[in-house]
Amino acid sequence: MDNSTNQPALQQVTILGATGTIGLQTLDVISQHKNRFSVFALTASSNVKSLLNLCQQYSPQYAVMLQAEAAAELSRQLKAVGSSTTVLRGEASLNYVASHESVDVVMAAIVGAAGLHPAMAAAQAGKRVLLANKETLVMAGNLFMQAVLDGGATLLPIDSEHNAIFQVMPLRRSNNISESSLASVGVKRVLLTASGGPFRNASLDELKAVTRSQALNHPNWVMGPKITVDSATLMNKGLEVIEAHWLFNALPSQIDVVVHPQSVIHSMVEYIDGSVLAQLGNPDMRIPIAYGLGYPDRLTSGVSSLDLLTTARLDFCAPDMIRFPCLRIAYEALNLGGTAPAILNAANEIAVEAFLAEKIGFMDIPYIIESVLSASEIESVESIEQLVAVDARARLVATVQMRALC
Ligand code: NAD
Ligand code: MG
Repeated sequence: MDNSTNQPALQQVTILGATGTIGLQTLDVISQHKNRFSVFALTASSNVKSLLNLCQQYSPQYAVMLQAEAAAELSRQLKAVGSSTTVLRGEASLNYVASHESVDVVMAAIVGAAGLHPAMAAAQAGKRVLLANKETLVMAGNLFMQAVLDGGATLLPIDSEHNAIFQVMPLRRSNNISESSLASVGVKRVLLTASGGPFRNASLDELKAVTRSQALNHPNWVMGPKITVDSATLMNKGLEVIEAHWLFNALPSQIDVVVHPQSVIHSMVEYIDGSVLAQLGNPDMRIPIAYGLGYPDRLTSGVSSLDLLTTARLDFCAPDMIRFPCLRIAYEALNLGGTAPAILNAANEIAVEAFLAEKIGFMDIPYIIESVLSASEIESVESIEQLVAVDARARLVATVQMRALC
């Protein structure tokens, strides 16, 4: 008997941001399912050594580097080891490998606003989009969700909270996640859990003195530097509130944040009858990544079983918006609407970069973001080009604010 007819065709995967934390964990899951997935393209900003190593391991058709010099160096080194991978460079090449006709799945795991264009390209081309880059939805939620619909793409949230919510949403809704209102499918609200970060119990004075290395030491998750700082300020949760708004068509008043230090419950959905459904697991991003890759099937992820006896207890408390103003500012930006979230995102990126460069203090981050928002005119969102201009302007204002503090 010929078994080959039962074998599904290999899914071709592009990983945007392959050298990052999410990119590497995606490759880890793919390695466990070589009979299902093949790597089509890997992309990175400038880390030649890491991308070279990945190309040797996964033999993609394309490797894309943002920076020209890095691309030339990667190309030289790949030729020297006899690799047949083609090296491309620049932003347009990111869009090319995200929308290439041979590609089935795109993992959007570039950090920051830089991930917007290739994620849009993947959505417009109708790919299965595994969205880790939350900044895409924060900046351009309405345009991106429209592109998903128009392009016939399948959008699967990878951010652990949104993936958890997606998993416990009613089936008829999760097949088309943004189309109907929450109330129409019996959902009262979504509850995003937050670990509270490393400074959950710190006083305001202690927060003012937080150093770069303290902020980079997250208690539960291993992540890239930008999202680690965002988690420490609770801006990450603020960005996730905006992300949930677009993904699930949830009103700001239907999105609550609850601090849950153990990070075992990854988020919850409350129904109108009082039922609360949660998704639990060890804090390991390979769970949502495997879910996105396999959907609607379940794949092994390499994550160990949750040991509830060792976990022993699950704690919850309300977030403190006074010590962590970034969460308040994000709700305000969502309520303002239009270009406000894009401005918030750009100002945050500049402030976090400055904090990581040890130019400003930890509590200067919310100060800069709030100053930029109040100095900016909020417009309704019309186009990606407009958002790119808004983003650039907000970065300029944030840089001026930041320099005034140095
Ligand atoms: P990271 O810093 O570890 O990796 C970022 C990747 O993006 C790298 O491959 C880098 O080369 C690439 N990159 C950076 N700037 C670029 C640019 N200008 N153009 C093209 N490529 C560029 O980040 P990460 O922790 O993997 O996070 C990636 C995204 O996933 C972020 O949006 C983050 O918010 C989201 N996310 C991450 C986690 C996590 O656990 N790490 C969880 C949820 C969501
Ligand atoms: Mg998250």
